[in-house]
Formats: sequence, structure tokens, C-alpha cells
Amino acid sequence: MNEPDVDDAPEPVTEPASDSAASVDAPFGFDSLNLRPELLSALVRLGYEEPTAIQRETIPLLLQGGDLVGQAATGTGKTAAFALPILNRMPPKEGKPVTYALVLVPTRELAVQVSEAMYKYGRDLGAKVLPIYGGQPIGRQLHALHDGVHVVVATPGRALDHIARGTLQLDSVEVVVLDEADEMLDMGFADEIEGILDATPTARQTVLFSATLPPRINSIAKKYLRDPQRIQVGQGGQNSLANTPRIRQSAYIVQRAHKPAALGRILDVETPTAAIVFCRTRDEVDQLTETMNGRGYRAEALHGGMSQEQRDRVMGRVRSGTAELLMATDVAARGLDIDTLTHVVNYDVPSAPEAYVHRIGRVGRAGREGVAITLAEPREQRQLANIERLTKRKISIEKVPTVADLRAKQIEFTLNQVREALAAEDLEDYEVVLDTLLEDFDATEIALAAIKLVHAASGASDDEREIPDASHRLERDKPKPSRDNAQNRKGSDRGDRGERSFDRGDRPERGERSGPPAGTARLRLGVGRKDGIRPQDLVWTIANETNLVGKQIGPIWISEHFSTVGVPEHTVDEVIGALQNAKVKGKRANVRRYVDDPR
Ligand code: ADP
Ligand code: MG
Repeated sequence: MNEPDVDDAPEPVTEPASDSAASVDAPFGFDSLNLRPELLSALVRLGYEEPTAIQRETIPLLLQGGDLVGQAATGTGKTAAFALPILNRMPPKEGKPVTYALVLVPTRELAVQVSEAMYKYGRDLGAKVLPIYGGQPIGRQLHALHDGVHVVVATPGRALDHIARGTLQLDSVEVVVLDEADEMLDMGFADEIEGILDATPTARQTVLFSATLPPRINSIAKKYLRDPQRIQVGQGGQNSLANTPRIRQSAYIVQRAHKPAALGRILDVETPTAAIVFCRTRDEVDQLTETMNGRGYRAEALHGGMSQEQRDRVMGRVRSGTAELLMATDVAARGLDIDTLTHVVNYDVPSAPEAYVHRIGRVGRAGREGVAITLAEPREQRQLANIERLTKRKISIEKVPTVADLRAKQIEFTLNQVREALAAEDLEDYEVVLDTLLEDFDATEIALAAIKLVHAASGASDDEREIPDASHRLERDKPKPSRDNAQNRKGSDRGDRGERSFDRGDRPERGERSGPPAGTARLRLGVGRKDGIRPQDLVWTIANETNLVGKQIGPIWISEHFSTVGVPEHTVDEVIGALQNAKVKGKRANVRRYVDDPR
């Protein structure tokens, strides 16, 4: 395929290119793509200035109606590449909408995400777009389908269900898109996809988009696409990171047992707005979420073992910024586009370089900057090297930040905060306070005390432990896995910051020195040490059942037979309501407000 050399071009979003290119009249604007004005106005509203490379290449072909196989890295705008040409076919508004396009996607989250995007693009055209996926009450879907929709975005399993029930009418379908086709095949949807395609008119336009093109895609393409055009964007082939130049990649070498602590330390220094942490298994996701919540991070889990409601709630919290860490498996997080995401963490080195590329494609999207961090064990060095070779990108090996590094970073943060305050205009408001204090103290003392408060308020951690960095072991690579594993089982993540932060002298006696902060109410739960309850278990249950996040939960105190947990006063009723039928570690929580018994 002889494509124009556009792949090197900077992402148009951040660098509105060709203004300066003298006589050239906006050669790559959306305007030149022959889209309907209602679509162009939507794009203006969304702030899309120019098409991305894959959009520029595929939209004109798709508008002509031919079949197509499109490949480009994650985050390069494949959704709009197929959505705009589909919407361009919107029939005039008259009568009941007829389904003329079907988009198949691998996961429920993507069904929602893609249909939201299509709804936004097609708003001015009055496009009705419906996501359908398993786990959602089928009644609502039936209702919407009955009323008629223009575009259905579905996971293959649920689409097939509806076809079997006769509730999804595909006779008028003109376009079928297989989005994230590689992932759908990986998830074992090949039969479903074939079944669905067989149920659509043969005269349809069939479009396949994917981040990678494994051979199995070709066999589907051969069977179901007619003479497809192939558009591949990104020079280095399927593992290239050519389209995500703004990702800083680093790796830390740590023993498994030190990973939770190392992750916390790295996050403290990196201060992500939002980060996604990839784990290998659901269990690992759950465990790490618990551990990180116990350490005071607002972490949420996302994996296929969760109910749809749980997953929706998690995504809501992540998107709204209520949660800062999303722990996820590859499948659950596939294709997710989260605006605020700044960091991707590989809790392990992914065994396939493709997985690495997919994962870190979550950041650095649409020209934003991103950071990819990998925690590797010494023996995983070879896999790191493999990834470097395949992606043609250097991954720099960093040392796990020391306590001194962390301190320096925190001081820098405090310094900036104070500087910002100094630049603000409302300082006079506080002159009264200063004047009063100056009667008894000198200005430097007062300043130091104020800075101390700022520093403490910014959540500077008091983590004093050095975390062993294992990068020196890279050369002497002969692993002694049995020892590493033994250490791991013991879980050395106990006893450092996590446990201590729950142990802030939270005795339930009256007149305690460090009682719960103002505005915090205490709940009593009828589960205690005899039930094997740990602070994390309580945080986990409450965070899962309510809208509270880790940081709002505590102090926690666990006695033999019961526990007390602090929650914000104004949430008490809501929390008690939500925990009515909840269980902690399989035991009924029996929650009520805790009243200090006068002894
Ligand atoms: P992909 O499917 O290739 O992984 P998406 O379609 O999810 O990528 O797009 C990634 C992000 O880029 C989305 O937030 C989308 O809104 C944004 N985007 C897509 N096209 C453009 C464009 N032309 N200009 C600006 N942002 C865009
Ligand atoms: Mg996509």
C-alpha cells in the first residue's frame, strides 16, 4: 500500500499544522472530506480540528461504500473513522428509524463508549444509536429496538441472542463494522461474528478495524469482505508506537514481594491524575486493589468477574476523578478511553509485546502526554528487551525512588503550592490572623508553621521505608524462584505505611487523643478479629457498596468481636442503608451507628 507519508506528522490536535504552509488551503481539514454539514458542526463542537491519519486515509474510501480493513494503534481515532461515514448515510427523518448499521465490539464498556461517541457525532442528524450488551436488562433493549434505532453497537453474544429472538432486524443493514476485531477473535467470538454476518444482507459494506492484524483476521476478511482496501497507519507495522510519540516509558526492577510498596512509592512521586494498573489475573486485580486501598489510595478494580452494575459504577468513579487508580485485566480495559488518564502501569511485564502496546496505548492519546511504567522482576529482563526490540522504543530502567527522592518531591510540591498562594490576590484577607500571631511570634516562625500545615495537608506521606531496588541483579539473572515465591506468600506489604495509616491510635475509649477528624461519624460493624477481618476488608466492602472512596473511610479500629469505621457524617444514613445486606468476608456486617459506651 502506497500511502502518503503522513505517519511522521505530529498529532494534528496539538499542532494545528498547515496555517503557515503558504498557498496550501487546509488540505487535511475535515472540510475536505465531503462529510455532511451536520457532522462537521458536531466535530467543531467536539474540538476536533483535523482528522487523524487513519481517519484521513479511510473516511474517503468508506464514503465510497467499499469494504475495508483498517489498522492503526490504539488511541488514533478509529471510532470516528468508521462512525462518520456510517452517519453520513443517515436517512431523512421520517417514520420509524430502521437499523442500517451494526457495529460489533468486544466488551460492554466499548459498546457504551462507541455508542456515546456515535451519538455525539450524529446528534445534529438525529441519529438514534443503541448499545446492546450482555448483563444489561434485556427489557430496556427490547423496548428501544421496538421503537427503532439507526445504529446498533453490540457485543457479539448479545447481538446473536437478539437475532435468535427475532428482536434485532438486520434486513436493512447496509454497513457492518467489526471494531477491535483482533480482540473479538482473542475472546473467542469468531463463531458469533460469523453467525451475525450470515444474518445480514450480502450486499452490505463490511469494515474491519483493529489495532493489530493477526493471521486469523485475514481468514475472516477473506470469507466476509469483498475485495477490501487495506489501510495500515504507522510505519513499524502492528507493534509500532509511531502514533504515540508522547509516551515516556520506564521500568523498575523489583522483587515481587516489594511490588506493592514500590508501586505506592512510584505513584507518590509521579502523582498521576489517573492511572490504570494492569494485572495478569482477576485475583491479582482484587488483591492489589485491596492492598492499595489499604495504603490510602483510591483504587478501583475492573475485571470480567464483576457484575455490570459494579463495572459501571467503577467506570463512573474513574471518569469523574473520584478514583485515582484503576486496577484491571487486559480484557476488561481493552479500548477504554479515559480522558484523565496520565499513567499506565504494568504490574508485571506482559508476556506478549502486543499486549504491552495495547496497554500503553491507553495514554498519550490524541496528542496528550503519557507515562508508561513497568514493574519487572530481575528474571523478566529478557521480556523487556523483547518489547524494546519489537516496539523500536527504549524503555529506560529507573531506580525505585528512595525516601529522600520522595521527600524532595513533596517539598517541591509544597514549595509550588506556597508560591502559587503568594501569587494570589486575596492574601490581605489573612492579615488579621498574621497581625494577631505577630504579637507573640516572629514572622519566620509563623511562616514555618504555616508551611508545615500546607505540607501536611497535601497528604505528604510519612513512609520511611526504603524499598529494595533489584536492578543490580539484572546481570546475575539466574533466578531462585522458590525463594522469591516464599517471600511473596508472606506478603511483605504488611507492616509498612498501609497498616500504620490505619493504626493512628484509633482506640474507641473516650477522651482519646487523636479522635476522628471533625465531620467524621463512627459506624459499628459486627465483625472483628475473630472473623479474620483486616482494615482492607472493611475499606473494600464499604467502597464497593457505597459511593465512598478509600480516603473517606477511616479511622478504622478492629476489636475481637466488632469493628468501628469512620465515615463522613453526612453519609452515615446512606452507608448504613447500603450495608444492610452486605457481608464482610462472608459474615453479615450488622452495621449501625457506633455510640461510645460510657464506661
Ligand atoms: P482508537 O479506537 O483508535 O483506539 P478512539 O476512537 O477511542 O481511538 O479515539 C481516541 C481519542 O481521540 C478519543 O478521545 C477521541 O475523541 C479522540 N479523537 C478522535 N479523533 C480525533 C480528532 N480528529 N481530533 C481530536 N481528537 C480526536
Ligand atoms: Mg477503538
